[in-house]
Amino acid sequence: MKIAIIGAGFGGLAAAYDLRKAGHAVTVFEAADYVGGLASGFKEPGWDWYVEKFYHHWFASDEHMLGLIRELGLEDKVLFPRPYTVLLHDGKWYPFDSILKALLFPGLGWGFNKVRFGLVGLYLRLTNNWKALEQFTADAWMRKWAGRQVYEKMWEPLLIGKFGPHYQDVNMAWMWARLKARTTRLGTFEGGFQAFADLLADNLRQAGVEIRLETRVESIQREADGLTLRSADGSESFDRVLVTTSPALLARLAPDLPQDYLKGLLELKSMGAVVMVLSLKHQLSEQGYYWFNLPKSAGYPFLALVEHTNYLSPEHFGGDHILYAGDYLEPEHEYFKLSDEQLLERFLPSFQKINPKFERSWVKKVRVFKTAYAQPVPLVGHSKNIPEIQTPIAGLYFASMSQVYPWDRGTNFAVEIGRRAARLIMEK
Ligand SMILES: Cc1cc2nc3c(=O)[nH]c(=O)nc-3n(C[C@H](O)[C@H](O)[C@H](O)COP(=O)(O)OP(=O)(O)OC[C@H]3O[C@@H](n4cnc5c(N)ncnc54)[C@H](O)[C@@H]3O)c2cc1C
Repeated sequence: MKIAIIGAGFGGLAAAYDLRKAGHAVTVFEAADYVGGLASGFKEPGWDWYVEKFYHHWFASDEHMLGLIRELGLEDKVLFPRPYTVLLHDGKWYPFDSILKALLFPGLGWGFNKVRFGLVGLYLRLTNNWKALEQFTADAWMRKWAGRQVYEKMWEPLLIGKFGPHYQDVNMAWMWARLKARTTRLGTFEGGFQAFADLLADNLRQAGVEIRLETRVESIQREADGLTLRSADGSESFDRVLVTTSPALLARLAPDLPQDYLKGLLELKSMGAVVMVLSLKHQLSEQGYYWFNLPKSAGYPFLALVEHTNYLSPEHFGGDHILYAGDYLEPEHEYFKLSDEQLLERFLPSFQKINPKFERSWVKKVRVFKTAYAQPVPLVGHSKNIPEIQTPIAGLYFASMSQVYPWDRGTNFAVEIGRRAARLIMEK
């Protein structure tokens, strides 16, 4: 079959890998001039490794991604360094990256709350019944079972940070999936995620896949002899098309989809993200902390502060210290409109709170990355909202971050859904 894939993120590339292996003629259309999608990276002059535009790592449980890397014989390039994650309590940072550290965390006191925190965590790790959990909001379920104090200290800040105004609508299966599928060990690829995406794309090209960069698809239409894709380069017909973009974009590309499917796509909610990446002359957290969990209530103008070079050595980045400051936001949020300079002005005082020695002169370079589609918002009973991979248009398939539910989005699940879509395409 002649198959087109729209998007060279990890979902599209993984699908291309299986489809080509099975002997199909595969063309990948990518609007950007690079592969890797949301997990792509950039390099400044003098850096040996890429830095992801949006902070990225793998969990030790990311079996689909790690499995694909093994199939490609690249497992020697996967690293699992030991980073330090910390949580704020009474103005002080406490380690929070293992069950033991969580039990020692003073923010929950030492009595009944800690027991409740432990029991709820254990229950969620052991149960597989996420369908029952999706009938409740995380807010209501956690308040009831973990108790108000544990919820407000531990879980509410996470929900507010990730989902802003929607935080009380998010279902409990999301929280379950987070606790179930995540590990404290965090992994990356030698050279960065971009280095892996480039190696995967090289492998595909050698196998005969055509990857057309800087080729934005403008529309998809069913015609008598197949599906016609239109781009600035002209139009071309395919037997099957797999779209890996956001649901809103699929709705724009294929307006001939039936009304109820289109409505379902457009009703899926998601959050955007704004992430600043700073190259600094000096280390910010001299304690070597990698990931700072920042409750919005502590007054920081961002959710996540991540010192990448407290995870990977600055020597990969010409001695620069790399810092991320990022947030999940509604696409209408003012951060999407501010210039990089204006945003830096907002963020600078917070860096000084982390290290009083910090000065503006430490900042060598600032880059800001923005995306309107960063994090799907799963509502109560969400499984019924998930669009089918096989759309009602014959031959048109859709595999996106919004469909990996009940799992939370991530490159591991992009690989899983990309390969699942490839299997479905080949079955029909
Ligand atoms: C802030 C942030 C932090 C994250 N942290 C992690 C993490 O730590 N670990 C992890 O594993 N995952 C993380 N993720 C999630 C991860 O990046 C995604 O789940 C994954 O990259 C999605 O891959 P995808 O192929 O589904 O989509 P995408 O990567 O979005 O790929 C879609 C591609 O389609 C292209 N495209 C769009 N429109 C068109 C068009 N009209 N024509 C042609 N091409 C088009 C886009 O340019 C893009 O390359 C994070 C995401 C964000 C935003």
